[in-house]
Amino acid sequence: MSCCHYYEFTGRGDRVFSVDISAIKFGPGALSEVGADARELGLKRVALFTDRRVRNLATFETAIHSLSAAGIDFDIYDEVRVEPTDESFQAAAAYAAASRFDGFVSVGGGSVIDTCKAANLYSTYPAEFSAYVNAPLGDAQPAPGPLKPHIACPTTSGTGSECTGIAVFDFLKLRVKTGIVSRALRPTRAIIDPTCTYTLPANVVAASGFDVLSHALESYTARPYTERARPDHPAARPMSQGANPYSDIGCEKALRLTGRYLARAVADPGDQEARHNMMFAATLAGIAFGNCGVHIPHGMSYSVAGLVRDFRPAGYPREEPICPHGMSVIVNAPASFRFTGAACPQRHRDGARWLGAADVDTADHETGELLAQRVIEMMRATAMPNGIAGVGYGSDDVAQLAEGAFAQQRLLNNAPRQVAIDDLTALYTNALAYW
Ligand SMILES: [Zn+2]
Repeated sequence: MSCCHYYEFTGRGDRVFSVDISAIKFGPGALSEVGADARELGLKRVALFTDRRVRNLATFETAIHSLSAAGIDFDIYDEVRVEPTDESFQAAAAYAAASRFDGFVSVGGGSVIDTCKAANLYSTYPAEFSAYVNAPLGDAQPAPGPLKPHIACPTTSGTGSECTGIAVFDFLKLRVKTGIVSRALRPTRAIIDPTCTYTLPANVVAASGFDVLSHALESYTARPYTERARPDHPAARPMSQGANPYSDIGCEKALRLTGRYLARAVADPGDQEARHNMMFAATLAGIAFGNCGVHIPHGMSYSVAGLVRDFRPAGYPREEPICPHGMSVIVNAPASFRFTGAACPQRHRDGARWLGAADVDTADHETGELLAQRVIEMMRATAMPNGIAGVGYGSDDVAQLAEGAFAQQRLLNNAPRQVAIDDLTALYTNALAYW
């Protein structure tokens, strides 16, 4: 299938795609306007979500001063867990339900913003926890109506959570990551201030930057929206529509920026040009994947993060083992693109070129490897773990990892080719080490 024919209309395939995005305010100093934005939305008393690390940063002070100056009453919730769980989501929801708030402000990384989305949902429309959770682990019920206004202020350049209707968590009893997906969860506004990233440790910039990179690559190589069956009624069209011409635009720009600036942003905290551009890339890739959906590397990441035993990377809380989201994704990415290359070779070639691969003049059957090699080169330049062995897994773990990933059918179905359980076993084996 050539790239120009990627969106060919087929008999039963969809012909319509939609673009849903948060209102966005972007630029250095934007966070100091959060109070004015809250007032504009008619908010009087908000729940202010953050985590303990961010609470001690000047960034958080900026948000507080802005809210106070605008006369917005707020109460701070800083119990957010890095890599949230069903329990931490429910604790946040109980907090939000116990007091009268007319809106939410979140200041933090993806964990903070996702927790705030869940608290907004469950405090506005109380239900059993499993009610809104993705099938088959939960009932995947749609949010019954609109949520309260939520202004999301990201402090990392990664998840793009401020632009998506997705909240990801660890389901503790099942030892697997899953999520809640609903258009209603999308924050009302995103206030994106790149100066928030100046104090981030190098490893956090790297991990979140690879999340950006993978959002863009997975969205660009996702199954085209025209191949997904047309929905019976418009409301049934999924948010993860598949690759579409709108998402493609953001993916291209996000990949060009990531190829040029990721290594610089990691190497030098004082490189403001690089950190600003990574923040913009995160926003673009967030909008793209929010309207398209990701596929195999993210599907595989959930069990890599969920089953982690003893990995404690620099720059992250040390109390418990953790595989940060961006790392758990990127360790699967080269193996995944080797696997998907043949399904849409030109799109893999484009990805490699935009990321800055030196020579992209390869045969179609080699474009998966071409892209994999460019990603590996970038991983090595930024001290990422060498495959899943680098985060503590061995060949004995492959079967269990594959089983966990196979449960992520919503993501696997968005891949440009079918993924069987045996394929996942081969993918994890290939992902054990890259160099
Ligand atoms: Zn991600």
